[in-house]
Amino acid sequence: MKTPAWSYSSITLFDQCPKKYYHLRVAKDIKEPESEAMLYGTAVHEAAEKYMRDDEPIPEKFAYMEPYLRKLKAIPGEKLCEHKMGLKRTPEGMQPCGFFDPDVWFRGIADLLIIDREKKEARVIDYKTGKSARYADPKQLALMASCVFFHFPEMERVRSGLLFVVSKDFIPVDFSVRHKHDIFVKLDDVLVSRETAYETQVFNPKQNFTCKQWCSVLTCAHNGRSA
Ligand code: SF4
Repeated sequence: MKTPAWSYSSITLFDQCPKKYYHLRVAKDIKEPESEAMLYGTAVHEAAEKYMRDDEPIPEKFAYMEPYLRKLKAIPGEKLCEHKMGLKRTPEGMQPCGFFDPDVWFRGIADLLIIDREKKEARVIDYKTGKSARYADPKQLALMASCVFFHFPEMERVRSGLLFVVSKDFIPVDFSVRHKHDIFVKLDDVLVSRETAYETQVFNPKQNFTCKQWCSVLTCAHNGRSA
């Protein structure tokens, strides 16, 4: 079976447990119910996008995040919201491509991308609605920064950050164009494991913190909620 394109969320899920990944993303015989937190996250992203792109006021219930978004809006540069980028692998190396291109290898969506061509500097912001920044994962930012370097080759620096709108935390990470390949090298092991799983159609279980009470794969022997 051909290995499909991957994203930060798909590789994170595969790395957590290939078996869970298989049921949710390959066989699709199990659907995770949309939690309150997921619905809230979607609403926050929509409100931020409309504020940034269309100048729509922030709804009252999300008023707490307006000061942060206002600061971002005041930063000079072209603002791109929910910006979709793809990368493909070619014999000449990694190349930018369309998000839906048939040969796309990696897909990423930047919640907010600000391109300052004069300073040759970009900003990438990812909105988070989790209650705490304790388990923030900067890999996602590294992937977005690499996409930006490939799609906007004049950029020399990407200043990125995870903006936790509820807990009012900001996790900043800066990247230089010199390191645009680093994140793919770091993820190489898990990417190769995923390709092997598709080739062999073996997606092994991998116990983790979700087994006991959160995993939806009730047929798995490790699931704490199965009878
Ligand atoms: S219960 Fe644990 S090991 Fe089993 S599928 Fe779920 S996450 Fe994987």
